Amino acid sequence: MTVHANHNSSGFATRAVHAGSPHDQTTGAVIPAISLSTTFAQKSVGNPVGAYEYTRSANPNRDNFETAIAALENARYALAFASGSSTTAVILQSLPIGSHVVSVADVYGGSHRYFTQVANTHGVEISFTPHLEDDLEKLIQPGKTKLVWVETPSNPTLGLVDLRKVASIAHYHGISLVVDNTFCSPYVQNPLSHGADIVVHSVTKYINGHSDVIMGVAAFYCPVWKERLTFLQNEIGALPSAFDCWLAHRGLKTLHLRSQAACKNATAIALALEVSEDVISVLYPGIEPHPQRDVAIRQHRDGMGGGMLSFRLKGGRIAAHEFCQNTKIFTLAESLGGIESLCEVPAGMTHAGISEKERERSGVYDDLVRLSCGIEDTKDLILDVQQAIKVATNSTFNRRSINRS
Ligand SMILES: *Cc1c(COP(=O)(O)O)cnc(C)c1O
Repeated sequence: MTVHANHNSSGFATRAVHAGSPHDQTTGAVIPAISLSTTFAQKSVGNPVGAYEYTRSANPNRDNFETAIAALENARYALAFASGSSTTAVILQSLPIGSHVVSVADVYGGSHRYFTQVANTHGVEISFTPHLEDDLEKLIQPGKTKLVWVETPSNPTLGLVDLRKVASIAHYHGISLVVDNTFCSPYVQNPLSHGADIVVHSVTKYINGHSDVIMGVAAFYCPVWKERLTFLQNEIGALPSAFDCWLAHRGLKTLHLRSQAACKNATAIALALEVSEDVISVLYPGIEPHPQRDVAIRQHRDGMGGGMLSFRLKGGRIAAHEFCQNTKIFTLAESLGGIESLCEVPAGMTHAGISEKERERSGVYDDLVRLSCGIEDTKDLILDVQQAIKVATNSTFNRRSINRS
């Protein structure tokens, strides 16, 4: 059960701190207790003491978290799930057999695997396109196409999708638009305000923000989706624990501060990479050279670029690997959106399951490095990137000289 957010007229930071955070009515505790009980006493048959019966159906900490997310995504309802992946699964499971979905080509790897290897066994077919704005109209199968699935920015190439444009085509045909907003977080982008019908998050990333919870959430406005997805949330039962809801809610309260710091760091690093002779290209929607900078300015808060950026390093695959093995503050690891900075080589890690040809078609070259900028000091992060580039390009230069001699 999710109640209307009651802070909708307040600013983002006020909502982040207060929405879904009532004081305890009996003790006055400012922070809600963690409600670990799986069941709740009843006064007489079918007459519970409070609003709760059984934690799979509803739990106070999950309710609080969902209320906060609804408030931050300008939604009416939010539903939490055990992971970002189970959120995707439940939405796809809500479609009738014989449905068709159009998706951007470079979706999150786990979503791609669900679409191609699980959804089809339930009679749901997916078409992928790298040019959604141009191709959507001709990919729609009248009566069959039920959803358009978008990630913006895309992973790891940080391409943007114009949500207004896609929403107007989808809505003209009676199709719902789902946006995976994990990369931006609700602070940088609110897809429902740009025409989306459902926004989903891997809470694991920016919303929790401390790399210690796996969780997902969907937020939306329409009561029909609310009824359908609440039913599946309970019947499938892919739910987060009360403790994880409490932790993610605590993380959420500082999302605006963490997001501002991560964006500031990513922008400074992107600008430093732009002027480096060892860098082939920088992919970051927060700075002018990005080809869809105009979309970022329209769609993102204050035109912010988010905390994620990618770049291609001279020296090929070896240089990219050497870079990631020689950073001292950036940790070589998958995932993103935490307070600590991370780096990875998508071709060898998060996107290794995709064939080289398909990877390169979407710009995921062997020399591409992806950074998740954390909230450390900007100066320290820039120096770390610069020293690791120096080590990486020196070592590839040395290797080439040895090979030649
Ligand atoms: C991580 C991620 C997911 C999957 O979320 P989990 O919480 O790991 O299941 C989905 N979409 C995007 C964009 C992600 O980064």
